[in-house]
Amino acid sequence: MAKNPKYVYFFGGGKAEGKAAMKNLLGGKGANLAEMTNIGLPVPSGFTMSTEVCTYYYSHGETYPKSLKKEVETALAKVEKVMGARFGDSSNPLLVSVRSGARASMPGMMDTILNLGLNNKTVEGLVKKTNNERFVYDSYRRFVQMYGDVVLGLKPVHKDDIDPFEAIIEQKKKELGIHLDTQLTAGDLKDLVVRFKTAVKERTGKDFPENPMDQLWGAVGAVFGSWMNDRAIAYRKLYDIPESWGTAVNVQSMVFGNMGEDSGTGVAFTRDAATGENVFYGEYLMNAQGEDVVAGTRTPLPISKLAEQDPKMYGQLDKIRKVLEKHYRDMMDVEFTIQQGTLYMLQCRVGKRTAFAEIRIAVDMVKEKLISDREALLRVQPDQLNQLLRPIFDLKEKDGAVKGGRLLAKGLNAGPGAAAGRLVFNALDAEAWAKRGEKVILTRIETSPEDIKGMNAAEGILTARGGMTSHAALVARQMGRVCVAGCSTLDIDYSTHTMKVAGKALKEGDWISIDGTTGEVIEGKVNTKPSEVLQVLIDKTLDPKDAPVYQEFDQIMKWADKYRRLKIRTNADQPDQSANAVAFGAEGIGLCRTEHMFFGEGKIGPMREMILADTVDARKKALAKLLPLQRKDFAGIFEVMNGRPVTIRTIDPPLHEFVPHEEKAQRELAGQMGISYEKVKQRVDSLHEFNPMLGFRGCRLGIIYPEITEMQSRAIFEAAAEVKKRGIPVEPEVMIPLVGHVKELQHQAQIVRREAEAVMKEQDVKFPYLVGTMIEIPRGAITADEIGSVAEFFSFGTNDLTQTTLGVSRDDAGRFLLPYVEKEIYPKDPFEVLDRVGVGSVMRIAVEKGRSVRPAIKLGICGEHGGEPSSIEFCHILGLNYVSCSPFRVPIARLAAARAALLNDAPAAKSAKAKKPARRKPARKR
Ligand code: ADP
Ligand code: MG
Ligand code: MG
Repeated sequence: MAKNPKYVYFFGGGKAEGKAAMKNLLGGKGANLAEMTNIGLPVPSGFTMSTEVCTYYYSHGETYPKSLKKEVETALAKVEKVMGARFGDSSNPLLVSVRSGARASMPGMMDTILNLGLNNKTVEGLVKKTNNERFVYDSYRRFVQMYGDVVLGLKPVHKDDIDPFEAIIEQKKKELGIHLDTQLTAGDLKDLVVRFKTAVKERTGKDFPENPMDQLWGAVGAVFGSWMNDRAIAYRKLYDIPESWGTAVNVQSMVFGNMGEDSGTGVAFTRDAATGENVFYGEYLMNAQGEDVVAGTRTPLPISKLAEQDPKMYGQLDKIRKVLEKHYRDMMDVEFTIQQGTLYMLQCRVGKRTAFAEIRIAVDMVKEKLISDREALLRVQPDQLNQLLRPIFDLKEKDGAVKGGRLLAKGLNAGPGAAAGRLVFNALDAEAWAKRGEKVILTRIETSPEDIKGMNAAEGILTARGGMTSHAALVARQMGRVCVAGCSTLDIDYSTHTMKVAGKALKEGDWISIDGTTGEVIEGKVNTKPSEVLQVLIDKTLDPKDAPVYQEFDQIMKWADKYRRLKIRTNADQPDQSANAVAFGAEGIGLCRTEHMFFGEGKIGPMREMILADTVDARKKALAKLLPLQRKDFAGIFEVMNGRPVTIRTIDPPLHEFVPHEEKAQRELAGQMGISYEKVKQRVDSLHEFNPMLGFRGCRLGIIYPEITEMQSRAIFEAAAEVKKRGIPVEPEVMIPLVGHVKELQHQAQIVRREAEAVMKEQDVKFPYLVGTMIEIPRGAITADEIGSVAEFFSFGTNDLTQTTLGVSRDDAGRFLLPYVEKEIYPKDPFEVLDRVGVGSVMRIAVEKGRSVRPAIKLGICGEHGGEPSSIEFCHILGLNYVSCSPFRVPIARLAAARAALLNDAPAAKSAKAKKPARRKPARKR
């Protein structure tokens, strides 16, 4: 028989059975409590029940492994020994907290219970031991309240209700005619405990448990149970945390921040979590316990105040801050408690932060030699760069609003950025309004983990209570939401969905604007302007010297460029788009769609003439009108791209997309063309297709109407000749879409080459050019060796390739694809994240076959996937030469490509600095 696995891990007295690396088993909290114990930090003793207990619990009908009870008793005895107190003892009772802690931190999503072990006997013992009756009864009422909520399920019933225990407290205060919790005496608190217990009995029909061991197992069960609560499930969905991970449970001796004015509790970040600045950043409250700081029920003091109030404690804390950063080599988020002048560490984890902070900290830590540039790149998630590109308020307009008396309030700048939206007062409304397409600012007295979905749906979050480390602030920063917290002058009334502030009354649906960078709350809608990065790169209105955020961004980009092997191109069909992309670092155009150009000025008329023409001659006449217009477009792009390769795709969409479908427009067109309306209508009708996606489009158009390809090729090459003659290098690559058979490509390539040679001869100028194809239908991929004998490059059109490989029309997939993802049939929307197993295999076939006939064939991707980090990683693994994405995703792609190289290339390759993509069998990830 196999030996029982170990389920319980002890920590205390300077030694721990666990360590930081055991996160999967002990959860983040348990692993780091062990690690802090091992590096000599003051951690109250306790033990961790591993995540395996949770998995066992759920796979065995919510029961525990047999050996667990014994292990818990043994560990508890050790804790009692270290702490010199006994659990359930009536004269010297040990109290514990029961804390959840999953592998990935899920702030506030699961439950924690403090002061466990108190009952009507131990409470007396504790009074004698501490000689502090008020403190003891304060702890007792907190315990009954938390246990009642978490384990026994006494919660608000309706979204506009307040907590039932808070209601009892409010009632009591009303009776006494007092306003503050601190005015409650020991006797009042004692009475509250009685009332709480009565409420428990009334609502559940059961007595509040007196036996500490029963309390402990009740709490443990509730914590494991909280793994499956709605908000934890919602959070896991949002952050891709698998259900199978489970949570650990930590049981830890209590230390008390509520023992008087020499006690307190706080949370801190070792650096500023909003901006990344290297300053100690946190908040604390004296004479308070645990949840008080994070729950946002009292607005705490900034940690810098502690330096004045208690320099000794501050000094110790600041020292621990440095120890932790050096040890973990990252910005850490800590919880601490001061009990009568002694400091205890209760938690540490890598701190959540905004994208701004992530980037700044990464860059700074490289400079401080705490981490390498590679590590810096691996820390920044590519999509985080989006936050840096997001708009900020137009300062002039905001100043105008403030001067005009529209400044409503100022709170804490908890989540940077600018947001304007309509007021909503609860999370459900936020979700519902957002679903209707409204922009909303979720405004709450304080947020709680229950609000997570509403917060995600909102543009910004505004709270009346709570500090920089409150739930609202923490979650907003992680989600990249704009957040102003602790705006204490807001007088919010949930029941009427209104609020009063600055002498004004606002109601649900009113517009407000919040500036998460300054904390300002402004009435009405303030317009936004481009971010610092955009002001430098795109608008060129800001000097990089005056743009610190830009400088950090630029540093990350430089490091990314050092490690990536993939080139980054862009999908653009206008000179200005192309210029933006170049500013963002694009190294070429991977897809220039010519059809967009036909909608430009003066072009749609001749285009329609061409489509409606009956004869080749008439079509050629119309095409002749289009030629100079297209040539001009191409010349503009070549000029901007200044010698970088430009892949131009010949016409691709079905022709019916270019003609009018309503009678009125058809009649107008008939008039313009001097033909009858009936004729126009009949021609348009004849273009109707049952399945246009698989119909008369792509190279099929150019094969049936070769004069179109002829015109387009001529326009491309004449533009190239013209630009080249002006001394600007050009590198056109003509791309034939939707090729499934080599003969299709042969047909089109012949036309393209003929035009290229003709133009070079006519204009007496030489320039390099390539002819290649998109690989976007399976037959093209499967016969890539045949096609590769003609094509000088392949570009994977993964939008169509996904449609055709999966046999799913993207335009019709709305109804089933999301449910498919929910049912985990596909892990992600395959149109968003490349389906590596299916579509990826088709791509691999094409890559291998293409290279077998043309080893140096250029390979790229131009589908939407070219800007998505996981798909980019796959392209790297396949050894493509480039990815192409929309201009604003170019920075993301640069970083994603670097990370792909760092994560997938064998370290040996680094010295070789190989220019060529590695041909070795790629290590298949995941
Ligand atoms: P969360 O994961 O939601 O932060 P925690 O388990 O960290 O929940 O606990 C909530 C609060 O209670 C924190 O402020 C924490 O510091 C405090 N706390 C937890 N255990 C103890 C303890 N043993 N002694 C004192 N305070 C504690
Ligand atoms: Mg915590
Ligand atoms: Mg396509």
